[in-house]
Amino acid sequence: MQIIKIENLKSQVEGQQILKGIDLTINKGEIHVIMGPNGAGKSTLANVLMGHPAHEVLEGTVDFLGKDLLDMKVDERAKAGLFLSFQYPQEVPGVTVENFLRTAKKEVSGIMPMMTQFNKDVKKQMADLNMDEKYLERYLNQGFSGGEKKKNEILQMSVLNPKLAILDETDSGLDIDAIRVVYETVQKLSNDNNGILVITHYNKILNYIKPDFVHVLVDGKIVRSGDITLAEEIERTGYEVFKAENAAKT
Ligand code: ADP
Ligand code: MG
Ligand code: MG
Repeated sequence: MQIIKIENLKSQVEGQQILKGIDLTINKGEIHVIMGPNGAGKSTLANVLMGHPAHEVLEGTVDFLGKDLLDMKVDERAKAGLFLSFQYPQEVPGVTVENFLRTAKKEVSGIMPMMTQFNKDVKKQMADLNMDEKYLERYLNQGFSGGEKKKNEILQMSVLNPKLAILDETDSGLDIDAIRVVYETVQKLSNDNNGILVITHYNKILNYIKPDFVHVLVDGKIVRSGDITLAEEIERTGYEVFKAENAAKT
């Protein structure tokens, strides 16, 4: 069962074309990893899918659970079950983590969750992530370390239970123990009903999550797809080989 089908997706930002024809299909139960050099367009792909207003779609289609994703507003995309963990989570002074999570859950599910049960569930999920409960009372991301912000993103993911979660470099800024906790949690959150797209630079996460597919994104295009052995190849060769292959084709 297909969750998302991206075909020939092209986009520009500030008059510059970034995505140059992305094709990617993610089915239920699958974990996909996208790797690629800096500036390849990885975050752009995530932002275009989420509907970031800076990015203009030039061409292509995106089917999300039978609907035209590109035709939906940002909040409609979230309600339909799309979740993006940002590379740089924003600080939101005045809104506590607890309030944020509860409101976000209500926005996405249409029902305000019951306080006591919700608290119990969230605290359990925080314990799994090695997060202190007192963060519930803190303002969202304010004064959080890089690692705490990223854990908080995964906490949101576990609360919102999305159909497709896109995690953009959730490993950056994390120490090795936090990386393990975060990606073990992501692996646990993977089930037969959802899809997960992990964007990363960091091969070590493959010790904790088991992707079904690995894709290499170079210069706005997926230049190679394979299984986990492709990540091992990247580790050995770096991206230069893939860049050269791509340049030879164009
Ligand atoms: P990656 O995540 O693969 O490192 P990005 O998708 O963040 O790369 O960026 C791809 C290119 O698009 C870069 O050249 C970047 O500067 C440019 N870009 C991305 N977002 C914006 C934006 N909002 N305004 C201007 N340029 C942008
Ligand atoms: Mg699976
Ligand atoms: Mg990026």
